[in-house]
Amino acid sequence: TPQIGVLALQGAVAEHEQALSAAGAQVRKVRRPAELEGLDGLVVPGGESTAMARLAAPVRLMPAIRQRHEEGMAVFGTCAGLILTADAVADAEALTGFERIGGLDVVVRRNAYGNQLASFETELEVSSIPESERRLPAVFIRAPIIEEITGSEVEVLAEAAGHPVVVRQGRLLAASFHPELTGDHRLHEHFVQLAAG
Ligand code: GLN
Repeated sequence: TPQIGVLALQGAVAEHEQALSAAGAQVRKVRRPAELEGLDGLVVPGGESTAMARLAAPVRLMPAIRQRHEEGMAVFGTCAGLILTADAVADAEALTGFERIGGLDVVVRRNAYGNQLASFETELEVSSIPESERRLPAVFIRAPIIEEITGSEVEVLAEAAGHPVVVRQGRLLAASFHPELTGDHRLHEHFVQLAAG
């Protein structure tokens, strides 16, 4: 059974645990570097990226995640988690002085969908999920925009409103929305398979 952690400093932790269990994983919360030991994958949830970066700093959890990822642990960053896994943040002032995970060759901008669209729901066509002809419901909450893809290994699995919203780079998966807030767990299934493979 794949062992999957959920970064549990802040944000939508319980919903990811539930979705991952439903997708067949053995799940545990991660708050300290030692808890990364033996994990096949880690979900970095949505919430507030600045709060997570701040809470992770005293135990240097972000560089520990980066190192475990370099050693093979898969990572799935959603919303704030995407901001933490992106290699570059366009408006990084609020994150200045805090370590992030990085590794995903994209530039993101925080809270970039504007006032009217600050939160919205849509349905996506996502390639490479099970039954991908069936659309995936997606809830965006003060979501980051992927402004630019800077590496040739980044695959775009879904787009919405002219921007990539699900991307994959090797053993790194990221979504700009909250896949854990609907009953549709196909993206979690995709991640559990990626982590196990
Ligand atoms: N706006 C949040 C941030 O910058 C992300 C929002 C979310 O994760 N729902 O971290």
